[in-house]
Amino acid sequence: MPNKLHPETLALHAGWRADPETGSVAVPIHQTTSYQFKNTEHAANLFALSELGNIYTRLQNPTNDILEQRMTALEGGAAALALSSGQTASAVALQNIARAGDNVISSTDLYGGTWNLFSNTLPDMGLEVRFVDPSDPQAFANAIDERTRAFYAETLPNPKLNVFPIAEVAAIGRAKGIPLIMDNTAAPILCRPLEHGAAVIVYSTTKYIGGHGTSIGGLLIDGGNFDWEAAGERQPALNNPDPSYHGAVWSQVTKPLGPVAYIVKARTTLLRDMGGAMSPFNAFMFLQGLETLPLRMRTHCENAAKVAKWLDAQKQVTKTIYPSLMTGALRERADAVLQGGYGALIGFELAGGVEAGKKFIDSLELLYHVANIGDARSLAIHPASTTHSQLSQEEQAASGVTPGYIRLSIGLEHIDDILADLKQALNKAG
Ligand code: PLP
Repeated sequence: MPNKLHPETLALHAGWRADPETGSVAVPIHQTTSYQFKNTEHAANLFALSELGNIYTRLQNPTNDILEQRMTALEGGAAALALSSGQTASAVALQNIARAGDNVISSTDLYGGTWNLFSNTLPDMGLEVRFVDPSDPQAFANAIDERTRAFYAETLPNPKLNVFPIAEVAAIGRAKGIPLIMDNTAAPILCRPLEHGAAVIVYSTTKYIGGHGTSIGGLLIDGGNFDWEAAGERQPALNNPDPSYHGAVWSQVTKPLGPVAYIVKARTTLLRDMGGAMSPFNAFMFLQGLETLPLRMRTHCENAAKVAKWLDAQKQVTKTIYPSLMTGALRERADAVLQGGYGALIGFELAGGVEAGKKFIDSLELLYHVANIGDARSLAIHPASTTHSQLSQEEQAASGVTPGYIRLSIGLEHIDDILADLKQALNKAG
């Protein structure tokens, strides 16, 4: 096969051809907890990491391994780690390199669940998250101190849908030994954050990777493009001896395996200890979704662009938020970061405010009213009363949620049917 395959091909073939024993072309579900060791020496080698292999499904699983390899190939990274949810992936992404007393600098434009994790749960554990406005990359530089271990942001954060300045912020971090961790959940295929300088990618595979809305899962991808060793004391978790693994220095002991120190540490310490493993059945489900991801993203984007244009022309709609409708620097950044479409998330505000928003949602017949994005079906929600309801009014405003804001996640139905449902619901909302 040619060396440089396209995403459409990688999504079908990367990491797996056929089972060498049975010839099975579909990736088998290895629904097993444990793996028979060949002998005591083999078992000891696996535990000592001097030989790679399967020990126990909390740590590694052959089905999960294919999903990890396929996502690594699609993103152009070095290795990946499948986890139980996107939330687990965000938490592990930071906890892997930052401990109590350290801090991480995050964009304010975040999924509500991540916001809660960063503003309450991680600080309760002693890990400070400093929020900065992503419209000014320099804000990240200004918030750094000697205990800053990482930058964190989302590629295409809803509800504002302002594409994040990945290259600018990644460059600021790299000069100081600080990796940029990007949540690319809303923009798979459209953006490859590693190419813009990000060091680690976070996914909620629950969304577009699956597409079918059947399974919760998450994933971390190690770009293999960040020099942890050169970062020295800036990154003690990877450069100081780890007492939980016989004093291993992760940036050193992983050298024979390639540039995978970050992901090996996440697997062998946090996954081992906290146990947020993806179930092999869910990994199988995500592999089914992944096969058609490039094709689906095209249709998602085409449908969403048409919906955004249509909404923008309706008298009941005061504002439509979609990257292709933006102008100036925001549009330029969207064009620089996204390829092949502007995503399938759309925000809009109704002239009638909260009441019109609720009436609109209650009038939908085709679009589902659910707290999710990235499903093959079209979805709608009123964030102020649902996904963002645990945030204060000020926090909601900072994250771009106004009382009459509606979020759409446009799916793969025929565009005429999507528009017809939106039209009848808008008419009822008044
Ligand atoms: N990141 C983003 C951008 C999300 O939209 C979500 C969920 O909505 C998550 C992370 C969390 O993922 P999960 O629901 O799989 O835990």
